[in-house]
Amino acid sequence: MKVLKFGGTSVGSVKSILSLKHIVENEARRQPIVVVVSALGGITDKLLSTAQQAVSGNEAWKISFEEMVDRHHKMIDTIITNTIDREDLFNKVDALFEQLRSIYFGVYLIRDLSRKTQDAIVSYGERLSSNIVSSMVRGSMWRDSREFIKTEFAHGKNTLDSVLTNKLVRDAFAELPRVTILPGFISCDRDTGETTNLGRGGSDYTAALVAAALNAEVLEIWTDVDGFMTADPKVIRSAYTIDELSYVEAMELCNFGAKVIYPPTIYPVCIKNIPIRVKNTFNPEGRGTIIKGKVENDSKAIRGISSIKGTTLITVSGLSMVGVIGVNRRIFTALADHGISVFLVSQASSENSTSIGV
Ligand code: ASP
Ligand code: MG
Repeated sequence: MKVLKFGGTSVGSVKSILSLKHIVENEARRQPIVVVVSALGGITDKLLSTAQQAVSGNEAWKISFEEMVDRHHKMIDTIITNTIDREDLFNKVDALFEQLRSIYFGVYLIRDLSRKTQDAIVSYGERLSSNIVSSMVRGSMWRDSREFIKTEFAHGKNTLDSVLTNKLVRDAFAELPRVTILPGFISCDRDTGETTNLGRGGSDYTAALVAAALNAEVLEIWTDVDGFMTADPKVIRSAYTIDELSYVEAMELCNFGAKVIYPPTIYPVCIKNIPIRVKNTFNPEGRGTIIKGKVENDSKAIRGISSIKGTTLITVSGLSMVGVIGVNRRIFTALADHGISVFLVSQASSENSTSIGV
């Protein structure tokens, strides 16, 4: 079986969503597939900004809300041609929008937007898009990812409960339908049952978790670029697509600014040795990039160059640190207690300073 994930731009326009339909229906003839979808491009940001308008008492939230309804309605009107299917889908989508409107109205009246409410609001993007895709793809079955992608609340954030998730995914797919459509990104708190999510860009992660649990033959990430490039093409015009990358190289590039895939995505498939293929929905014939354990064509010393903004280098220094055991432990404990992830560490050999990139 295969897992295919389609990002926001791949479901964002009529043209791209029809390309998705073509790709998915072709694949499904060959083997069972699970399709994970993001929200329509830009909708996650809009769900959040509309919540900000509502909480600050700005009436414009209603206009923003109607714009979202309109965008989904127009998409459905164009792509679903069968009248019964269309009516069915309109009922589902409008029921979701009715709930969402009530939540926004509550936020507006009470002027309160808790993390829990925000997580509930932002979940509608994928719930809407996946229902649209499911109605469009013939014979597909829609499942709610919140039934099996479970998080726990630790260090001030929602983190995946991977053991539970793995088990629940396997149980849920003990019998594998020909085509299953899943909303990416959204999850559920294992203790409270509240709706949570895997973080911005998290649909890739949903797909990787499902692929790993089901021992997929491959995880395909369908996006709007031809794969990983040697550099950011917006900065370096001569950048070109990299054919093959090792898991570790891909992890380094993603963590350091290449926005092709959400960094946590690689780990679950890497430990199962499941290759990741990055493909372009707008150019399905293109070869894309394949990420795997061992790269054959290994002649290049440098695989790619990426850069990152919004980072800080903290240097803790002082002669009183020299030879004192446990100083680094104290620094790292303080960071961990605040849920801060470290991506780079270096210490002077004389032990008088430690630098940490966060
Ligand atoms: N829709 C979510 C976001 O924009 C998740 C995703 O697209 O992967 O962050
Ligand atoms: Mg993404």
